[in-house]
Amino acid sequence: MQYDTLVIGGGIAGEEASLSLANMGFKVLLVEKDYSIGGKMIHLSKVFPTLDCSACISTPKMSETDRHPDITVMTYCEVRNLSRTNGRYLGEVIKKPRYVKEEDCTGCQLCEDACPVNVQDQYQYDLVGRKAVYIPFSVASPRIAAVDIEHCTLCGACEKACPADAIDFTQKEMAIPIEARSVIIATGYLLFDAAAKKQYGFGKFKNVVHSMQMERQLVPTRPYNTVLRPGDGKMPDNIAYLLCAGSRDHSMGNPLCSQVCCMYSIKQAQLLMGALPMADITIYYMDIRAFGKGFQEFYDQTREMGVEFVKSRVARISEKENGNLILHYEDVENTGKPLTAEHDLVVLSVGLLPNTSFQEAFKGQQPQTNEFNYISPSDELISPSLTSMEGVYVAGTASGPMDIPDTILSAGNAAAEAATYLNYLL
Ligand SMILES: Cc1cc2nc3c(=O)[nH]c(=O)nc-3n(C[C@H](O)[C@H](O)[C@H](O)COP(=O)(O)OP(=O)(O)OC[C@H]3O[C@@H](n4cnc5c(N)ncnc54)[C@H](O)[C@@H]3O)c2cc1C
Repeated sequence: MQYDTLVIGGGIAGEEASLSLANMGFKVLLVEKDYSIGGKMIHLSKVFPTLDCSACISTPKMSETDRHPDITVMTYCEVRNLSRTNGRYLGEVIKKPRYVKEEDCTGCQLCEDACPVNVQDQYQYDLVGRKAVYIPFSVASPRIAAVDIEHCTLCGACEKACPADAIDFTQKEMAIPIEARSVIIATGYLLFDAAAKKQYGFGKFKNVVHSMQMERQLVPTRPYNTVLRPGDGKMPDNIAYLLCAGSRDHSMGNPLCSQVCCMYSIKQAQLLMGALPMADITIYYMDIRAFGKGFQEFYDQTREMGVEFVKSRVARISEKENGNLILHYEDVENTGKPLTAEHDLVVLSVGLLPNTSFQEAFKGQQPQTNEFNYISPSDELISPSLTSMEGVYVAGTASGPMDIPDTILSAGNAAAEAATYLNYLL
């Protein structure tokens, strides 16, 4: 299959870059490793500082991308062996088996109802369970079921329940040759693993959650009816946010500021005040970086609404018998002394990490990365989307932490650079 541009990664950056190029008349192949496009944005509640609904912005982009006549979307696929020959990138797309015939599945979810297996749902960030055959999430695109073969017991219940006869356990991995004149890398970021900060007890203390888990609790498709603490299902009334959990942290090998944690924590605090009007919310922070348009006003408004901000360094968290948590912290702004505070739910505002999986797509020459393992633009100031490889561009958080508006700008820039290159090649 021949394309003008291969876009790797179907988050908001990959969608935006694909749509920009396709709307200029170029043929695009978008390869996403997950079951659905949408990236992290489709899992967010609302976006700062406007509090617009994230899914309401994301879903039209997802379906426009999926239905565009000049974009071919391949999900649950990975790119391999890309190398440049005669000005073209040749390689292959590895199509992994879903064990469901994509063309026949109607997304009715009868297979899901029939499946007896229950495992943790990665799309709800492990807060609740899902079946071994499942539609990844309600607004998934494409809305096609997949069998989690690792947990499937091969009982056959889904096969019997499927009215379209779409379950197919004979599917095998396939390698499909591809050819593209340019490449855009939009593989995004990874979430910092909250359990790596052992002193905060994530994974050990049930009422310590991370910020993506809180995002999920604040969306309309949330796992519970309201915000609950996972330990005992109680509605929390004294919630702490702990900022810079795994960012600006040399001890964790991540000295970079994640650019979004201050603002998404402030956003979540405002949303929590709506969801749990009686709850007290305290944000423990090093500095508040409210650098974008309207950010300072959003921060000021949140203070005025009654959220407490404590400038501090939290050393560790301990747990009480009733599941409440004690924060041991240094009161940086006032006394400089070690203090403790009790909360019934703690949210770790986890940072962003580089996703180096794009390296597996290339054979031989690789796009250069910087000292933080993000793709390094060949000229950060003048051409932020150009990489060290001819015809290869980078979009969004694959080049460093950034928020959604900056990701969209970056994707537009990558598409413009790719279009100029493609026109020059003609
Ligand atoms: C808790 C939290 C809340 C946030 N809230 C906000 C907010 O309110 N406002 C805001 O502006 N920003 C917010 N952000 C930041 C926002 O998530 C990012 O700016 C945005 O998602 C970046 O989009 P992206 O497309 O670059 O990356 P991603 O969303 O990470 O998308 C990357 C895509 O590439 C795919 N992929 C990865 N590797 C491969 C591969 N090798 N091959 C094929 N596909 C691959 C992934 O599966 C994914 O679909 C928040 C972040 C967090 C953690």
